[in-house]
Amino acid sequence: MELVGTRNANQKVDLSQALLNPSADFGGLFTPQNLPKFDKDFFKKAMKLSYSEFALEIIKSFNFDIENEVFLKALEKYKTFDDKTLPLKIEKIGENLYINELFHGPTRAFKDMALQPFSEIISNLAEKENKNYLIMCATSGDTGPATLQAFANKNNVKVVCLYPSKGTSEVQRLQMVNADAGNLKVLGIKGNFDDAQQALKTLLKDEDFKNSLKESNFYLSAANSVNFGRILFQIIYHFYAYIYLLKNGIIKDNESFDIVVPSGNFGNALGAYYAKKMGAKIDTIKIASNENNVLTHFFNDNVYDIKGKKLIQTMSPAMDILVSSNVERLLFHEFGDKKTKELMDNLEKNKEYKIEHIKGFEALYCTDKECSCFIKNMADKGKLIDPHTATCFKFKPNKPTIVTSTAHWVKFTPSMIKAIKDEKIYNEKEQMQLLASEFNDEIPSEILELFEKKAVHNDVVKKTDIKAKILEWIKL
Ligand SMILES: *Cc1c(COP(=O)(O)O)cnc(C)c1O
Repeated sequence: MELVGTRNANQKVDLSQALLNPSADFGGLFTPQNLPKFDKDFFKKAMKLSYSEFALEIIKSFNFDIENEVFLKALEKYKTFDDKTLPLKIEKIGENLYINELFHGPTRAFKDMALQPFSEIISNLAEKENKNYLIMCATSGDTGPATLQAFANKNNVKVVCLYPSKGTSEVQRLQMVNADAGNLKVLGIKGNFDDAQQALKTLLKDEDFKNSLKESNFYLSAANSVNFGRILFQIIYHFYAYIYLLKNGIIKDNESFDIVVPSGNFGNALGAYYAKKMGAKIDTIKIASNENNVLTHFFNDNVYDIKGKKLIQTMSPAMDILVSSNVERLLFHEFGDKKTKELMDNLEKNKEYKIEHIKGFEALYCTDKECSCFIKNMADKGKLIDPHTATCFKFKPNKPTIVTSTAHWVKFTPSMIKAIKDEKIYNEKEQMQLLASEFNDEIPSEILELFEKKAVHNDVVKKTDIKAKILEWIKL
C-alpha cells in the first residue's frame, strides 16, 4: 500500500520514502488513503497472540514496501522494556476504569513505544540506501530523550536534539545531557520550546545547510511525530487494549469501550482514531488537554482558533501546544484532500478555520489546579499518576474506559510533590525517593543513575549559532 499527501491525494509514495522524507506536497503529511479492516475472526485469533505477533499482523495488513523481517527486528526492541513479552501494562483502577501504561520503555515516556522500533527501521533503510542521515528533533522534554536513546550507536544515522535550556523537567534534561554515544549531539537553546521548534523548521528548509551536510555525505530528516512511521506503532497499542478487554471478558464482541487520551500534537489520539477505523470497537475518543485548550474548542465548537493565543506553561509541558500537527490527518479522512488544503491555508492566513462537526470525539481541559487535585485523589487511593495522565480524570467513565497513561511520574517529581505533599523538599532525588517509599513504588534504576553521571553535552547556544555548531560537529 502507498501513502498519499493530505493536501494532494494524487501524490503517492511508498512507506520507505515517507519515513525518510516526511513532508508532502503543499506542506501536507503522508497518510494511508484506506485503512485495512479487521473482524471478529481476527479478534479471536488475536487473543492468542503475543504483543509483537499481534503488532506484526496489523503491520502486515498494510502491505507496505518494507520486508516483514525488518519490522520483526524493529519489534524486538520491545524486549528491552520492563516486561520483555509485553511493552505496556493494563490494569483496572476503578469502576469501569482501566489504565493503559505506555511508559515502561527505556526513557519512561510513551514516545518509546514508537521511537524504539522506528529507529531500527530508519537505520535499516539508510544502510540499504548506503546513505547517512542526520535526524533532527526539537523537544519540550520527552521526544528528545526517546529519540536519543532510540538512535544511540545506530548505523548510518546521527542525531541532533534541540531543547529549551530551562524549559524541561530536571530528569528530562539529565536524560539528554547524559546521552553518551558518538552519533548524538544535544544542544540547549536560549529560549522556550517554540524557539527550539522554530529553529528546527528553519534548518529543515535551509538549502545552504542541506548542501553543507551533503558535502559530508549526510541527508537531513526529522523524527517529529508527523512521521507516519511513528503513528503506525501508535495504532497498535490502542488496538491491543481492545483485545485485552475482550480477552478478559470485560466487554463482549458486540460491545464497545471508550478511550481517553492526554493530547498535545494529536499523534496518540490519531492512533486511536485509526484503530477504530480498522475495527476496534471504540465508541468515543475523549481528548484531554491542559489550559492550552485549542483542541477542546475544536471538537466542541467546530473551530480551530489560535488567534491571539499565547502558549501557557503548565505542569503537563508535553501538551503545551497550540498547533497540533496530526489534526491534519483527521481532517483528510473526514473531509478529503481539497478541503484539508483549504482549511490549512485558512489556518496559516487567518489563524483559524471552521468545520462541520466531527463525530466520535469528546473534549475537555484541565487547569493545573484541577490536574493537581486528580493527582492527589489518585495518590489517596495509592496510585501515582503523572500530570499528563492526570488530565484524563476529568472525564467520568460511563462504560468500560481505557485511560492512556503517557509518562512515569518520576519524570515530573516536583509537580507530584507539590500536588501531594505540603512539605518543602528541595532535592529532586530525595523527593523521588520519598514518594517511592511512601507509595511502595520503584524508581527505575536508569533514572536514579542520572543523578550520578557527569554531563557529556554542556552546550547552551543562541538560536543564531545552532547551524554552525551542528556543521562543526558533523565534520568531525
Ligand atoms: C508527547 C506527550 C503527550 C502528547 O502526545 P501527542 O501524541 O503529541 O498528542 C502527552 N503526554 C506525554 C507525557 C508526552 O510525552
